[in-house]
Amino acid sequence: MNFSTLAALDHQYLWHPFTQQQEWVAQEPLIIVSGKGAFLRDIHGNDYFDGNSSIWTNIHGHAHPRIVEAIADQAARLDHTSFLGTTHPTAILLAKKLIELFPAGTLSRVFFSDNGSSANEVALKMTLQYWQLVGHPERSRFVSFTNAYHGDTVGAASLGGRNTFSQRFSQIHFSVEQVSSLRMLEEIPHPQTIAGIILEPLIQGVAGMRPWPPGMLQAIRKFCDEHDILLLLDEVMTGFGRTGRMFACEQEGVFPDFLALAKGLSGGALPIAATLTSEKIYEAFLGTIREEKTFYYGHSYTANPIAAAAALASLAIFEEESVLEKLPSKIQFFSHSLKKLASLPHIGSIRQCGLIAGIELMEDPLGGIAYPPARRQGAHLCHAARQYGLLTRPILDTIVLMPPLCSTEEEIDYALNALVTTVLTHNQRY
Ligand SMILES: *Cc1c(COP(=O)(O)O)cnc(C)c1O
Repeated sequence: MNFSTLAALDHQYLWHPFTQQQEWVAQEPLIIVSGKGAFLRDIHGNDYFDGNSSIWTNIHGHAHPRIVEAIADQAARLDHTSFLGTTHPTAILLAKKLIELFPAGTLSRVFFSDNGSSANEVALKMTLQYWQLVGHPERSRFVSFTNAYHGDTVGAASLGGRNTFSQRFSQIHFSVEQVSSLRMLEEIPHPQTIAGIILEPLIQGVAGMRPWPPGMLQAIRKFCDEHDILLLLDEVMTGFGRTGRMFACEQEGVFPDFLALAKGLSGGALPIAATLTSEKIYEAFLGTIREEKTFYYGHSYTANPIAAAAALASLAIFEEESVLEKLPSKIQFFSHSLKKLASLPHIGSIRQCGLIAGIELMEDPLGGIAYPPARRQGAHLCHAARQYGLLTRPILDTIVLMPPLCSTEEEIDYALNALVTTVLTHNQRY
């Protein structure tokens, strides 16, 4: 099928996520037909650096032979079997590998699901049930951080930041208390009835790539320990090397009671998610059926073998290609390259954590004046960047640059140069 046929069919049959369809159908769609390493190719043969790792999922590049082979092998052997009542070797090995990434006595159990929102909701439900099972049903409050993002399903969205997108659904959200700082958290009344605190460790993603002050995570862990509150960490974005360590929580030597993983778990190839927890939590759920301690939750595709095989291959690549060992110099190079942007017009703050960067565009950075939201400067700039071979998406007026971990220094340089050119030629116009 040629471009115009596909474009017409897309416009006729599809409804894209987070997309104003009226605007979408008025434009030519970008039809991606292949991917190799850190690049994606469109139907016309144009290549783009995957500047946001395909919405923060890709780790080792597209079509990594190791992952492709693992998927093909697994699909030929066993495509799917229900995890309700049976098990299979690939998920067993994957769970073992995941737990071996953590020190003994911290996280020791894996509950699979298939996206980040679900991984967080599993942690929420386990937290609530845990307190009921250990005789503390009064612990039922959840605390999250202002502008947080934990997913789009109703439960996960209840935890997230309150904005114009989510406000519309507020009637069906459950009530969550939000704090904006450690100080607000420490002053929260009746901590003895808080069940759990959830946050994105080290850096908030959807909030605009906003790093927390150093030491924040340790302080929150301390607060949780003092008040016997469970700590839920959402590493859906930060997991699997993004911040320079395998998991962001390791950067402050903190281990949570629940850890949610998704996006990068399969290396970016297939949807799979996991909620990790400790033996203390797991054991509270043990009992006879009649004691009604069972965790009644699951999805049809829980621990899908093909997705689990991709995840296992991704973890093997981390070892075989010394992915973590190569990160410090890449991250340093990334910081250095980002400096090229600092002196350009209309660039506000540049925020970075590992291979994650948020570049904020501003009408007048010195005067602290943002662009009028209606101008949609971030969206226009990202659209313009395509013609220089860079594909990414903004968060309002913050340009996200999140190269796949496999990106070479040359490729990072290519992405930054494309962004510099875009800023120089397009940051005034709209
Ligand atoms: C993307 C994301 C989620 C949601 O994951 P989905 O797989 O899109 O449901 C949750 N938390 C964080 C921090 C994320 O970045």
